[in-house]
Amino acid sequence: MSNTKENPMSNMSYCKFRNTLADLKDCAESLHDTLDGDEARARVALVVLCRRITEELEGVALATLGSVSRCEDCGDEIPAEEVAAYRQEGGQGSERPRVCDDCADAA
Ligand SMILES: [Zn+2]
Repeated sequence: MSNTKENPMSNMSYCKFRNTLADLKDCAESLHDTLDGDEARARVALVVLCRRITEELEGVALATLGSVSRCEDCGDEIPAEEVAAYRQEGGQGSERPRVCDDCADAA
């Protein structure tokens, strides 16, 4: 796990979101681990921060934050969870799904 004290490269501005995303996913998989002391306090602080970010961006279209995948059939934004699931399943050699799950199910 990267840490700014151990790995000052992890928060270079050109890649801080990518690096943090990888670490945050790791944390998300460990949310219910038994922790104590500084690590337990850091978990609470992280959840508080995630809630603050969610509140701050509520109603903000993801497209305003950067490129998003659009469904080639209906044109709707493909939710980030669908894109992540597609990548995890190693979908058809492409980085992004061509259509949203709803359109894929309807096909
Ligand atoms: Zn669609």
